[in-house]
Amino acid sequence: MPELAPRSVAVVLGTRPELVKLTDLIRLLGPAAHVVHTGQHYDEELSGRFLEELGIPEPTYLTGVGGQPRAVQIGAALAQLDALFTARPPRAVVVQGDTNAALAGALAANARSLPLLHVEAGLRSRDRNMPEEHNRVLIDQLADVLCAATPDNRANLLAEGVPAERIALTGNTVVEVVRRHLPDAGRRAALLDAYGVRADGYLLATVHRPENTDDPAALRAVLTELDALAADGTPVLLPLHPRTRARIEAAGLLPLLDRLRVTRPLGYGTFLALARHAALIVSDSGGVQEEVTVLGRPLVVVRASTERPEAMSDFADLVSPGPELGRAARARLTRGADERERLAALPSPFGDGSASRRIAGLLGELAGTRAIEEGRAPELATAA
Ligand code: UDP
Repeated sequence: MPELAPRSVAVVLGTRPELVKLTDLIRLLGPAAHVVHTGQHYDEELSGRFLEELGIPEPTYLTGVGGQPRAVQIGAALAQLDALFTARPPRAVVVQGDTNAALAGALAANARSLPLLHVEAGLRSRDRNMPEEHNRVLIDQLADVLCAATPDNRANLLAEGVPAERIALTGNTVVEVVRRHLPDAGRRAALLDAYGVRADGYLLATVHRPENTDDPAALRAVLTELDALAADGTPVLLPLHPRTRARIEAAGLLPLLDRLRVTRPLGYGTFLALARHAALIVSDSGGVQEEVTVLGRPLVVVRASTERPEAMSDFADLVSPGPELGRAARARLTRGADERERLAALPSPFGDGSASRRIAGLLGELAGTRAIEEGRAPELATAA
């Protein structure tokens, strides 16, 4: 790719999954990346520690975003991004996924006529109750280069009338990120010991989406099923997202945690190590649906809808909170070692581990071309 000037690519992000998914791209961009963190996730455990662990360079932080209502998050970030982009226009802007931070980054790029690249374009849940669905549709309309992770994602964009020449089929960056950050076998064994679990003998659960946490009945239903699975004799590890902890306390559901092994949110390597050896993962996370396909582990997804159908059937089942969760989990658990071997041998539907490299190349072209159009000489030496 053409070599890019220092801090010429603004990478706008704000949450844990964006840090994860963009880490390899930021590494490949090197000094060209200017990471701008909106502060949507301002919690040390979801953000600060992650930046360090993933080796992401010190970001420029926006203020007044974290913990605010959605419109305020988008508005506050947009105003500050506009000031940043006016003071020192980047040659291209990158956003990933479907967060409020990503939408603010996309709108700011659009307002200043800056080329916009969308990592993980074309996901669709067709669920209008999810704010993320609106965010991703809007970002895809604004983006100049849409990096679709899978052929299905590309087809979604074409069906919405996005011209084919704006779409690149890149794969999902999570594949290479999981491979790079999964601790080696020795460190994984030590981590399992530290958490008091044995390989293939425990369940790992995460719950944080509003549909499961903000409705006390749904939250109770999820925790009741996890409690029953623990009572059956399968240890259940539950790294608790701060929002979920707050909702559990507010709803008076703390006793349902008694049988679970509750931890603080885990570092990324630790989470991957524990997911790699779990007999089953139960989660409402988006990213985890992709990660299990690289780790080759079964998953029960507790959500009304998914924008990642590629992971369903082989690797995962989609269930509602309540007895369906318990039934699906027990069915997966009884399939045992043969099934785990089968899953481990399947390729991930999310790509071959080269997405970040492809996207870095596209950015080189995008930012380089724009510099030529503006008469500013791009440094056209070849980069690795
Ligand atoms: N994750 C982590 N530690 C945890 C729980 C999750 O590192 O204790 C990682 C997980 O591997 C995935 C990301 O956080 O890469 C998912 O973030 P989250 O569930 O907050 O967002 P979503 O993927 O649903 O957008």
